[in-house]
Amino acid sequence: MEPLVKVETVPGKVYIVGTGPGDPELITVKALRVIQEADVIVYDRLIPREVLGHARSDAELIYAGKRPGHHALTQDEINRLLLEKALEGKTVARLHGGDPYVFGRGEEECMYLRSHGVSCEVVPGITSVIAGPAYAGIPVTSRGVASSFAAATGREAPGKERRHVYYGKLMKAVDTLVVVMGVGNLENIVREMLEEGIDPDLPVAVVENATLPSQRVVTGRLSDIVEKAREAGVKPPAVIVFGRVVELRDKLWSLDRG
Ligand code: SAH
Repeated sequence: MEPLVKVETVPGKVYIVGTGPGDPELITVKALRVIQEADVIVYDRLIPREVLGHARSDAELIYAGKRPGHHALTQDEINRLLLEKALEGKTVARLHGGDPYVFGRGEEECMYLRSHGVSCEVVPGITSVIAGPAYAGIPVTSRGVASSFAAATGREAPGKERRHVYYGKLMKAVDTLVVVMGVGNLENIVREMLEEGIDPDLPVAVVENATLPSQRVVTGRLSDIVEKAREAGVKPPAVIVFGRVVELRDKLWSLDRG
């Protein structure tokens, strides 16, 4: 008997690839191989040029981020684009800054593709959550100083009814907190922490353009970091590190890096 639904085999495959935090050498051997072999590469704004330089000369490069005068592709559009290319039988590398599953929505892409019968494989990357502080001389854990760390988004998805991140409570529960996408919301984050009773002297560092030649680090305390970041004109992308580990920077920071 003929099956009611004919299941077609799909030859294409999508790799959801983390390309690291910015320094083009902070890419894994596996990510490099996937990029070198891909027919199609979908990337956005945090992907270093050098990384794209590893693509085959005949590979199709598709920019999915914001351009002056153009909208960035929405997540739905990106999902459909990946699906479409895979259904054409292409090997697709969807590049994400840092790690695709750390505030990257790579998992949404993978679930969407799988639900349409397309195979999808994740290639983890070095996340800016850990490498950003490290390049500023800040370890996220340190024996006797910090036995736990957490990462949070500083900007929750707009229109969300229920809050998911309580910065003050989170800071009470862990030794080190790394906040991504937090520059625009720093004042509120700090206010919440102070209201929750966190020590105003808690060390804080903001690492802008981490791991890149343009890296800048602004350090301060909970009581003055908002002002210091404003004075320095800190802009995204930046990771914000809250915790005593920030003080280790004096001993670990090397002169050749900001
Ligand atoms: N998946 C990424 C995070 C994506 S969210 C990762 O694992 O690193 C984007 C945020 O990551 C930025 O707003 C910023 O907070 C942080 N980020 C990414 N690259 C960065 C860099 N080079 N320097 C500082 N922060 C960075």
